[in-house]
Amino acid sequence: WDGEKRNLMPFPFNPSEIDTVLLTHSHIDHSGLIPKLVKEGFKGEIFATKATVDLCDIMLLDSAHIQERDAEWESRKRIRSGKKAVKPIYNIADAAESLSYLKGINCDTLFKIAPDITVRLRDAGHIPGSAIVELWINEKGREVKIVFSGDLGHKGTPIVNAPAYIDEADYVLIESTYGNREHRGMRETIEEFAGAVEDTLKRGGNVIIPSFAVGRTQDILYILNQLSREKRLKNINVFIDSPLAKNATMVFLKHPECFDKETLNLIKKGQFIKGSPILKFTDTPEESMAINKITGGAVIIASSGMCEAGRIRHHLKHNLWREECSIIFTGFQAEGTLGRQVIEGAKTVKLF
Ligand SMILES: [Zn+2]
Repeated sequence: WDGEKRNLMPFPFNPSEIDTVLLTHSHIDHSGLIPKLVKEGFKGEIFATKATVDLCDIMLLDSAHIQERDAEWESRKRIRSGKKAVKPIYNIADAAESLSYLKGINCDTLFKIAPDITVRLRDAGHIPGSAIVELWINEKGREVKIVFSGDLGHKGTPIVNAPAYIDEADYVLIESTYGNREHRGMRETIEEFAGAVEDTLKRGGNVIIPSFAVGRTQDILYILNQLSREKRLKNINVFIDSPLAKNATMVFLKHPECFDKETLNLIKKGQFIKGSPILKFTDTPEESMAINKITGGAVIIASSGMCEAGRIRHHLKHNLWREECSIIFTGFQAEGTLGRQVIEGAKTVKLF
């Protein structure tokens, strides 16, 4: 809770003075404070791709729901020890209200957001709907082009297209999560992943994959599906234990413009998501708990991606201590998170 204090602080600007917001993609570390912005006086327009707008629908409501629940839990604890209750950054009603400010625009199309400012969104290849923002600003007859990369994918990212090439810019603001690291090739990474899954299942254990619900989970599904089709992995049962991941997957399917050729082909043939014999989405807490009874042969994907909250913690409780099971991390683990502790080899961790 303390880590979120910064999000509770007032913005260092007046939200009512902002005319336009350009949102690169729906991931919550980019979109998460939109309801707070609206709640505190923003009256302008928020532009993003159509897929991003649809994904924000589910993500902002989910975020508000988590905050309401966490604030309630924290307040109860505080009241017991004589302290003041806390409020969520925003509630479900705030999130719902903010959604009406989001406007979907097409990629690759010039769009004027002010008399002297033109914008164009280009595919960032990060998750469906993700965009690079190109901005042309005309000031006193001089034109300056600024490019905001947003989060970037790379050529081998499953499901989505490779990022668009930007020909020119006067200024570039670029994300640098992995700026200091050379990534291995996708095929090598998939091989290592397949090997880890195979070894674990042979030992009679389960594979637990903590994963961000939007983007990474679907990438993993794609790869597991492919490995199963190629008979590289046999008899696997994949559980996607995240209602948000399920809802996001359904939104993806409504936006074929975001998919690469391979994915479109698979969907057409009924071999991906719908019709896949190995994938099972679980909705209710009861269905989720039923997975806990499975002791071997399951690949369980749940969020949160850094193991800080959510259903993943229950799966860790049932599997982390068992020698025959594996945890496969497929995403960035920030300092101070449970995921980071596990990666760094902690001998004991506190789950609940
Ligand atoms: Zn992102």
